[in-house]
Amino acid sequence: MDSIDKKLIEIAKNATKKCTKVWSGATGLVGCALITDKGNIFEWVCLAFDCQLWFCAEHSAIAAMITHWDAKIMKIVATMQDWTPIPPCWRCRELLFQVHKDNIDTEIIIWKDKKMTLQELLPNRWQDKYFK
Ligand SMILES: [Zn+2]
Repeated sequence: MDSIDKKLIEIAKNATKKCTKVWSGATGLVGCALITDKGNIFEWVCLAFDCQLWFCAEHSAIAAMITHWDAKIMKIVATMQDWTPIPPCWRCRELLFQVHKDNIDTEIIIWKDKKMTLQELLPNRWQDKYFK
């Protein structure tokens, strides 16, 4: 773990502590922080509603990044409230690739002392050749 890894983990964890609570579900069970190739950091939390609407923290952080004209992610982490990093779900893995093809090399912190690239986590991703 380098200093940026530790900083992203701290930002993701702190995001879980400062989010607004909602009446119909839970927010902040998971926090996410990512850093782009421009050095911008984006954070967000998961939104899980009783009606089964669910927005992963990674998904929401990526949406925030997109609204700020950024798309290439150098590192990303999602953590539980106790700082424990967790790997992204399959939907978020695919989203990482779809927003920028170079994100295949994004470092993903998946556990306390373990990182993997998106290439390793998503070897059989969607490709447009399947539809030609
Ligand atoms: Zn997800």
